[in-house]
Amino acid sequence: MAGASQEHMAEKRKFQAIKGTRDLLPPETELWNHVEQTAREVFGTFGFGEIRLPIFEPTELFARSIGTDTDVVAKEMYSFEDYDTSELLELLESRKAALAWVDSPVSPPYGPLGAGAQAIFQPFSTAIGNVVRLGLDAFQKGRIPRTPDNERLLTGLKDGIGTFVGSINSRSLSENRQAVNSLKGLVSQLRFGDSLCLRPEATASVCRAYIEHGMLGLAQPVKLYYTGPMFRRERPQKGRYRQFYQIGAEALEAITPNTDATKSLGKDAAVDAEVIEMVMTYFARLGLEGVQLDINSIGHSAPECRRGYVEKLKAALEKVKGQLGADSQRRIETNPLRVLDSKLESEQAIIEKLPRIGDHLCADCAKHYAEVKRQLELRGVAYKENWRLVRGLDYYMRTTFEITARGLGSQNAVCGGGRYDGLVELLGGPPTKGIGFAIGEDRVILSLLEAGKGSAAQGRDVYIAWMGEKARATAIRAARDLRQAGFRVELPPVEQKFGKALGQADKLGARYALILGEDEVASGEWTVKTLADGTQRKVREQGLVESLRAGSKRQEV
Ligand code: ATP
Ligand code: MG
Repeated sequence: MAGASQEHMAEKRKFQAIKGTRDLLPPETELWNHVEQTAREVFGTFGFGEIRLPIFEPTELFARSIGTDTDVVAKEMYSFEDYDTSELLELLESRKAALAWVDSPVSPPYGPLGAGAQAIFQPFSTAIGNVVRLGLDAFQKGRIPRTPDNERLLTGLKDGIGTFVGSINSRSLSENRQAVNSLKGLVSQLRFGDSLCLRPEATASVCRAYIEHGMLGLAQPVKLYYTGPMFRRERPQKGRYRQFYQIGAEALEAITPNTDATKSLGKDAAVDAEVIEMVMTYFARLGLEGVQLDINSIGHSAPECRRGYVEKLKAALEKVKGQLGADSQRRIETNPLRVLDSKLESEQAIIEKLPRIGDHLCADCAKHYAEVKRQLELRGVAYKENWRLVRGLDYYMRTTFEITARGLGSQNAVCGGGRYDGLVELLGGPPTKGIGFAIGEDRVILSLLEAGKGSAAQGRDVYIAWMGEKARATAIRAARDLRQAGFRVELPPVEQKFGKALGQADKLGARYALILGEDEVASGEWTVKTLADGTQRKVREQGLVESLRAGSKRQEV
């Protein structure tokens, strides 16, 4: 009985999209396509080509580039171990058994357990013994990563289980439990496969691809754009999801030795300004409302520039630590720049009095920043300087920018970007400069919808109301010809009564009903009904497409 009812329950289980993910449905998907298509067009006119990247990558790629102290890498990545389950079946089972094992309570809990101990802990020591035996074998055969960590852990487990079994009788219950926990700790650190993750962003992937395909051999800068889903385990709310979509672009340029430093500063600034001009052009083309561009320079990582500033900032923050919230207090240690980002009302007045990076840029960074501003003005791009603008990802330097738009509440950033010279090198490539941005497509869509710029319901142009089996072939032919001419056509699979057909046409938002009854088929005079006003006219088959085109034009005017 129990089994049967469980089966029944399973049948009735309702599946739902995972928290923080969602389905995008028509007609909204038309807007998504429009937003992506416009990006392709605008970015294309600036010489950017599309790159399509994998959705998952080695976890290390992001840890190295974004930085392990950032929220993204520390808490928000969807990572998993990638291994061949069939090769490691027994090892996986014994790991599971070892980690899941708990002793059943015995009394007395104090003092040595004596001879009974072996029996209590037998299943656990067997499981650990199996992990060691199978683990060492898999390690030798290269079926689990042959890392120094794995080697150390396996040796530690081998010695640890020996000591454990040897002293088990003379230990108290709580001492044995402690030993069990520390052995479990070692087991859980064993790595059975490479750590992969769903990408939280795509700049690192673009850099990886630049290196992997030797793109430094191409004309520089290499200009690439991408679109697609990103994954971060954040708290879902309006404009913040766990699977979200970005449209981004990157311009990468190999650094040639012995170039004139002043010249190259000017060139970089022009590239930065053009990339910003491109994204602003794109937003204007979309009709995004309330767009504001904030810019800043965060200098470069050197004692006489950002690093020196961060020291000063840290010292200033230490002095006001008591007045700051817990998050900011923590950030003083991990990432002091991020304190400037705080939205906490009580911290605003304090932050305003902190030292500003603009006053601590080195001469080159200051020059570069001034030139970026001049280049933006040349292009007629309006900007607002915001000394508190820092980016959450470690790799940025010099130019940083953020664009906000209307209708989004507190999640109003629709684009973040900046310069990241050195990132490609950090990932094992040649010295390379980079500048790019990532647009939050979900938020762009929200803002457009909020402003009433969504597309209307995805109607049909023509609903074919056919009646009588004799009309079927004619209806199929009419549908094919109309579709060929680009009309959106609904051809019901079975004949319908006239009233039902018109009702259905209405529901689908069709503009015309093409009525094909036996009379129409026999006479060759077809009936077209304009649904908005109920008027009807007769058309012959050869004149159908023309007649509907003319009708549509008249309506569009
Ligand atoms: P935020 O401060 O809003 O969390 P971020 O600094 O983490 O943004 P970036 O990593 O620079 O954002 O990503 C660029 C853009 O991607 C953001 O400006 C935003 O529009 C969008 N974005 C980032 N995270 C999410 C998310 N979880 N859901 C939807 N859009 C997001
Ligand atoms: Mg974020």
